[in-house]
Amino acid sequence: MVPSSRLSGLHETSREERLARVAEATGLDASMVAAFAAASAPLGETADHLVENVIGTINVPLGIATNMTVDGEDVLVPMATEESSVVAAVCNGARQCRGAGGITTSTTGSLMIAQLQVLGLADPFATRAALFERKTEIAALCDAVDPMLVKLGGGLRDIEVRILDTDPPMTIVHLIVDTRDAMGANAVNTMAETLAPDIERWTGGRVSLRILSNLADRRLVRARGLWPAEAIGGEAVRDGIIAAGIFAAADPYRAATHNKGIMNGVSAVVLATGNDTRAVEAGAHAYAARSGRYSALTRWEKTADGALAGTLEMPLAVGIVGGATRVHPTARMALDIMGITTADRLARVAGAVGLVQNFSALKALATEGIQRGHMSLHAKNVAIAAGAQGPEIVAVARELVARKAVRVEVAEEVLATLRAAPKP
Ligand code: NAD
Repeated sequence: MVPSSRLSGLHETSREERLARVAEATGLDASMVAAFAAASAPLGETADHLVENVIGTINVPLGIATNMTVDGEDVLVPMATEESSVVAAVCNGARQCRGAGGITTSTTGSLMIAQLQVLGLADPFATRAALFERKTEIAALCDAVDPMLVKLGGGLRDIEVRILDTDPPMTIVHLIVDTRDAMGANAVNTMAETLAPDIERWTGGRVSLRILSNLADRRLVRARGLWPAEAIGGEAVRDGIIAAGIFAAADPYRAATHNKGIMNGVSAVVLATGNDTRAVEAGAHAYAARSGRYSALTRWEKTADGALAGTLEMPLAVGIVGGATRVHPTARMALDIMGITTADRLARVAGAVGLVQNFSALKALATEGIQRGHMSLHAKNVAIAAGAQGPEIVAVARELVARKAVRVEVAEEVLATLRAAPKP
C-alpha cells in the first residue's frame, strides 16, 4: 500500500520527476522504472499534453489486417490491440469473403445528439411546442458557436424535445448536429452549454446537464458480406454460424460476448486512429439494447443460393479531426495507411472489421472451438510471462501448444529444461 496517495503538485512537475515520485512512493524496482521509461520515450512529449500526471505511455501492438475489401476498395487496416487472436481473425475472415466482393457498407450521416436537461417546468408539453417554434433561432445560436464546422457543411440540423415519464416529468432537448469529420463531442457540448441560458430564459426552467449522448443512433454504419459455403468449409460450418447468430440475437448472456467479439475489431481500429474507444463502446452496447432487451449487433442468414450472409448495424461516432486524432503520430499514420480522408470512410472500415471479426469468432466457436487458435497465439504471451527471451519465446510457445498446456507453470518448466539442455 502506498503510504499516501496525496502527491501534491504532481501535475506541475516534469514527466521524469513524476515517475521518480511515484517510484519512490510505491517502492518500484529501479530496473523496472528504467525499462518503462525507455519503452515510453518514443512518443516523446506528445503524451505529456494529452492527459494529466503523465509518467509515460503503455505501448499496445499495432497490427495490420490484410485481405480487407470495403466498398470495392482494398484497404490495409491498422489495429491496436493487446489480444492475441484479433488481427489474425480479421485476416482469415476477410480472405474468405474477398472472392465474393468483400464488405459493402452504408452510413446514415454524421449526426450527433447533445442533450439539455430542463427541470422545473410547470407545463412541459406547452414548453415543448414553444421550443419547436424557435428552431431557426436555436440553429442560428448553435451554428454561431462553431463557424468552422458550418463552413465545412456541418451545424445544427434539427431539434427534438422529449418529455420523460419521471416524477415530475423531465424535459430533454436534443440538438442534432452534423459534425462532419469530427467525432463531435466537444463541438456539440459547447453548443449545448452556450444555448442553455437562452433555453432557461425562454422556458423559465433550469437547465442542468448539457452533454452529448453516446447513443449515436443517427450515426449508424451498416455493413454486409457474403461468405460462399465452399470458402468457409462447407454447409455445416455455415449452418453452425447461423445457429450461433440466432443464439446471440435471442440471449443477452451470449449477445454480450458476441458483441464483445465485434468490438475486438471495431475498438482496435478506433484506438489505432486515436479515437474514443469508450464512446464507441457505449454507443454500441446502448444500441444493442434499444429494443429493451440486449441483443446482437449482427445477423447471420443463408442466401437463396446457399451462401452465408452477415450484416452488422451499429452507431460508430469516429473522427479524423479533433481529440487525439491529429495530435498522435500513430493515429495520423494509421489513417494514411488506410488512405482515409473522411470520418465516414473510417466508420465504414471499422464497421466492416467488426463484421469480419464476428464471422471469424463464430466460425471458430461453431467448429473447433475458440481455444485452439486463441491459445496457440496466446502461447507466446505465456512464454514471455514465464521469462522466455529472444528465440526462447517461439521455442517455448511451440512446446506449450504441442503439449496442449498453455500455462505459465508449464512454460516455466519448459524454459528451465530448454536452458539446461546442452547447446549444439
Ligand atoms: P474537437 O473539438 O477537438 O474538434 C472538433 C472541431 O474541429 C469542430 O468543432 C470544428 O470546429 C473543427 N473542425 C476542423 N475541421 C473539421 C472537419 N473537417 N469536420 C468537422 N470539424 C472540423 O473534437 P470533437 O470531435 O468535437 O470531440 C472529440 C473529443 O471529445 C474526443 O477526444 C472525445 O474523447 C472527447 N469527449 C467525449 C465525450 C463522450 O464521448 N461522452 C465527452 C466529452 C469529450
